[in-house]
Amino acid sequence: MDSILELENKINDLKKVDKESYKLFNRIYSYYCNFGILKIIPTIKPIVLKYFGKRDINGQLISKEDEVFENVRKQRIVNIFNEWTGQGTLYNSLRSKRPGMSSEPSEERKKLEELIQNSEEGCDFCNPEKRTPEDVFGRVRGRYSITAANIAKYDVWSSLVIFKKHNPLEFNLKEFSDYINTAFQWFDMVLKENEDYKFPFFVWNCLPRAGASQVHGHAQILMTRDRSYAKVESLKRVIEEYKKETKSDYFKDLYKVHKSLGLSHKSGEVKLFASITPIKEKEIIVISPGPPSTMDQTKKIVFNILRCFIDVFGVESFNMSISCPLLNRVNDPPYIIQIVDRGNIFKSTADIGGMELFGSTVVADDPYMIIKKLRDCV
Ligand SMILES: [Zn+2]
Repeated sequence: MDSILELENKINDLKKVDKESYKLFNRIYSYYCNFGILKIIPTIKPIVLKYFGKRDINGQLISKEDEVFENVRKQRIVNIFNEWTGQGTLYNSLRSKRPGMSSEPSEERKKLEELIQNSEEGCDFCNPEKRTPEDVFGRVRGRYSITAANIAKYDVWSSLVIFKKHNPLEFNLKEFSDYINTAFQWFDMVLKENEDYKFPFFVWNCLPRAGASQVHGHAQILMTRDRSYAKVESLKRVIEEYKKETKSDYFKDLYKVHKSLGLSHKSGEVKLFASITPIKEKEIIVISPGPPSTMDQTKKIVFNILRCFIDVFGVESFNMSISCPLLNRVNDPPYIIQIVDRGNIFKSTADIGGMELFGSTVVADDPYMIIKKLRDCV
């Protein structure tokens, strides 16, 4: 099976068969592959088998002991750096092989459904008209969602799209499309109210592990002044700088590189790829040439990705964002939708640590595994 751990071979192949993509890859990324080696002293052998040996349902070891020891002794590392965004990611063969990464719907899913159900009692968002504040211009009312002012605002214009359904993991295409439409209608309302605030941002933190304070399905909608939010603004600067230096389009080239590596998918005008420098597990980047509110294709693709995350990968908690150009401006950077898995909701360790905050991102999931399953869903 294809793997990011084989990146070196893939790049060598590109050099032979697709010189243009090889050049683009080297223009955007630098990387190294090597082994991290350790000594397995006799007393650590049971510990190695406990953490990295595969077992059957009766707890009997099914992996060959020597193989487990060798996989731990010599770990393949791939370190990739995006020269333009400054984003870097580390892959480790052992982390991607570790047991317990099953995507089967399990007992855990039942536990999660229970947690969601139990949070319904006394939920303010189940009764948003009475139990959430309004914006000064009122509310946008969609068929399956409604807006509310954020009671503790992030910024001057900071509101919520509250979904009709309490369970944030339960939504169909019609409902999802409505959430997006409601958000974009709210952006228009804010612009009418105060034309200085024209940089929209949509972010969905699904469940507390992804940053939500309420279980009930909802997304954050914001409009800011002067410039986009910091990360979006940095990305816009990358696009500008890239254009100035290379006379080329950053996202077009980024997509080309991922396509040449077999990590992309295209449907109509909408493109997506499994990033080789993901911000965290399973990051998918969707490039939409227009606002998702007016593009059914974009809504459908993003919906299918989310459903694949939840139903196929067993994702419980995720972040999804829509980075937008200046509202209503054409020929600006495309709309960029990012989706990332935030891990198991019942796990006590955080998925983001000091490495992610101050160093490079460390991930376990292989982008080749992700795109393979995703292609079946979209
Ligand atoms: Zn609710």
